[in-house]
Amino acid sequence: MPLKTLKSLGQNFLVDKNIIKKIISAADMHSNETVFEIGPGRGAITFELAKRAKKVIAIEKDRGLAEELQKTIKSQGLSNIEIIHGDALKINVETLRRNISNYKVISNPPYDIASRLLIDFLISDNPAYKIVFVVQKEIAQKAIAKPGHNTLFTVLIQTFGKPKIITNIPRSCFSPQPRVDSAILSIDPIKDIEISDKNKFIQLVKAGFSSKRKFLINNLSNKLKIERSKLQAAFKETGLNEKIRAEKLEVNEWKDLTLSLKGLY
Ligand code: SAH
Repeated sequence: MPLKTLKSLGQNFLVDKNIIKKIISAADMHSNETVFEIGPGRGAITFELAKRAKKVIAIEKDRGLAEELQKTIKSQGLSNIEIIHGDALKINVETLRRNISNYKVISNPPYDIASRLLIDFLISDNPAYKIVFVVQKEIAQKAIAKPGHNTLFTVLIQTFGKPKIITNIPRSCFSPQPRVDSAILSIDPIKDIEISDKNKFIQLVKAGFSSKRKFLINNLSNKLKIERSKLQAAFKETGLNEKIRAEKLEVNEWKDLTLSLKGLY
């Protein structure tokens, strides 16, 4: 009997072989690499990854699907796939990946947790070596947005990685079909980021985007409680106009601003 599809778990299974091929090709797996997959579902990507990787560690929240996968793995005598039944947002992935250098993350995860997972894998102290995700087209476009259209997500993604859209995916490539189109988003994390304090950087960017309609300087003053005159001096030092809004800043300007405001929040 086919398993019931759970809408609440964002289950849209990939059925288009050509798209699966493109994901695998973007993953560029080597036989000595470990790969994490969030939400393997029925294994559309999992088994292709396993043919190429040293090990696949896949986290699946749906018990029924996790059990199905285990059965298939056993019956096929595959030894390099580990299925973990659990919620990828709750499992301490940091612990799982601690001893693994050079891991990749290749996934078609549920849409509602994709951005969170992307950021998490990017800004970790042990970041992924490469990330390939199927995401909503809108999220992929946000990832590659240009100053003038930047969001908090854009700045974080582009500070910590180099995003690229591999291809768009029409909804007909999934079963059941989602209500939105998708895209394959590939991100190569940047190895040596020149940010001395990641948390301070993130805190600043979050504060900067806290109210969309306000000028950046007002958001920073409200959220970080920095004196106006000090903010003005930092803006001057960074070459920023006081009337600029967060969406207009380039990634490097966020970095410069963090430096100029060091010790003030
Ligand atoms: N990768 C498969 C399935 C995509 S559907 C394919 O491409 O065909 C998304 C999958 O993520 C489903 O199997 C769903 O059960 C699983 N899932 C949903 N929320 C999850 C979570 N929090 N942690 C791990 N898996 C989750």
